Amino acid sequence: MRTSHGVTVRLVRGDLTRQTADVIVNAANSSLLGGGGVDGAIHRRGGPEILAACRELRASHYGKGLRTGQAVATTAGALDARWVVHTVGPVWSSVEDRSALLASCYRESLRVAAELGARTVAFPAISTGIYGWPLDDGARIAVRTVIEEAVPPVEEVRFVLFDDHAYVEFESALAAQR
Ligand code: ADP
Repeated sequence: MRTSHGVTVRLVRGDLTRQTADVIVNAANSSLLGGGGVDGAIHRRGGPEILAACRELRASHYGKGLRTGQAVATTAGALDARWVVHTVGPVWSSVEDRSALLASCYRESLRVAAELGARTVAFPAISTGIYGWPLDDGARIAVRTVIEEAVPPVEEVRFVLFDDHAYVEFESALAAQR
């Protein structure tokens, strides 16, 4: 679909680390020093340059790590991208509404991407893995925030979904926005 800002939103089934894009967004953790899921896959395929850049961030502006809902860019190393934008999703809570933090991940990542001049941005379904966010709600927040916040120079936002369940939930979230 095309948003009112003229940005194309696409869904792809596959592995985020195999994508070609200006920016690949990492579902990182606040340490910025790697983890499981998307984070592990990005560092494995992207090679040691990304971790070295993250260590430099920890040694400079991000001594305490990256806060939940914030985003920061590094090199993309060996990935087929110009930058990795690392963002820290909130852990799902059944007693506290952390939706604003999840929306912030998408908004801040897009802001950083636009500042860099990125035209294509590939996102995973942030927080819906190890951090336990229900996929239907995670998809709804992702799609709504991207439709509202993606602006030129960003031309295309691609959600890269690992499995059928995630793909179907993003499809219905997108259909509900039309
Ligand atoms: P979080 O800690 O933010 O929950 P995860 O990396 O555990 O992040 O998972 C986020 C989502 O990304 C999950 O839906 C998971 O299935 C999916 N995922 C895991 N690896 C990949 C990958 N290589 N490419 C695309 N999506 C992935």
